[in-house]
Amino acid sequence: MNSLLLPGGGATRARFSFEVFPARSGAAALALGHAVQHLSAADPDFISVTYGANGSNRGASLDLVKYLRDHTDALPLAHLTTVSETREAVREAIHAIMDAGVHDFLALRGDPPRGTDESDAGVIGSLSSLELVQLISEARAERPAFTSVGRTAVAAYPNGHPLSRSRSEDLDWLVAKQEAGANLAITQLFFHADDYLSFVDDAGKAGLTIPVLPGLMPVATSAQLRKVASLAGQAAPADLARELEAEGGYAPELGVEHTVALASELLAGGAPSVHLYTFNRHEQVLAVLRELNLLTPDPVR
Ligand code: FAD
Repeated sequence: MNSLLLPGGGATRARFSFEVFPARSGAAALALGHAVQHLSAADPDFISVTYGANGSNRGASLDLVKYLRDHTDALPLAHLTTVSETREAVREAIHAIMDAGVHDFLALRGDPPRGTDESDAGVIGSLSSLELVQLISEARAERPAFTSVGRTAVAAYPNGHPLSRSRSEDLDWLVAKQEAGANLAITQLFFHADDYLSFVDDAGKAGLTIPVLPGLMPVATSAQLRKVASLAGQAAPADLARELEAEGGYAPELGVEHTVALASELLAGGAPSVHLYTFNRHEQVLAVLRELNLLTPDPVR
């Protein structure tokens, strides 16, 4: 277990986890295989694998989850979505993941598939993440040997989900996911420590007791920063945007520097851990962890 020395001299334990997504080409798959060996050697709590995001193939997610399980020491956590799927297809997907020996999930409604939006009948009729959490609990109960193991994570939105009209509606929904059986939450990307800290504070007052992992991504390029800003539904920090532009739009070290500063504030403010969106690369996220003193020497060369 790693430890982080916090301002004020107190020592506390801080942990980390990673997110990867299925590769879209043979060359990208080779690079990802290399990256996950490094990520796994860093001893994360888990490596999560996205599902159907950005139009990616859902079968490829299951293959990557299996690869992590069979070829690395890391614990895979499978994202699973319900959007435009029948209840029976979702149930089958849960069992396929469990058949692969994976019992940790991130239960999501999912982004609308390409070519559709929130107004699409298939999207409106989708099961919610709340119902997915319940289906995962039911599937666990059908497999008595595994009833007591496994994380059921859900998404949290420090700056609000677009479908929610207020923070209190968002928090009620998150607490409902906890009541349905979720035991972990992972946040959407955000840029300012107070976005997370005030959200977690309000969530605690609303009855949330499960850990909320802040999701962070060290960007390397101006294009990535724009993408992250659009996901977060927030304007990108002007200083980082300016500094990246001054470097011709590519400066991985700036993304590391900004993420280290943000993570330090979050951990000092009580975040239990950091969840790093890797963009399928290991160099920047490991540099962040090294700077934070959370990493023992990386044994993979
Ligand atoms: P839900 O929990 O079902 O609801 C979303 C929001 O809608 C709630 O926060 C609430 O504000 C509102 N809402 C919904 N129903 C109600 C209700 N009955 N009452 C009140 N409010 C309601 N997408 C993918 O496709 N694949 C992925 O792998 C993926 N990974 C992600 C990982 C993380 C950490 C995060 C934060 C998001 C991820 N997403 C992914 C995106 C996610 O699927 C979208 O944000 C989607 O629009 C919402 O999913 P959800 O599970 O939060 O939905």
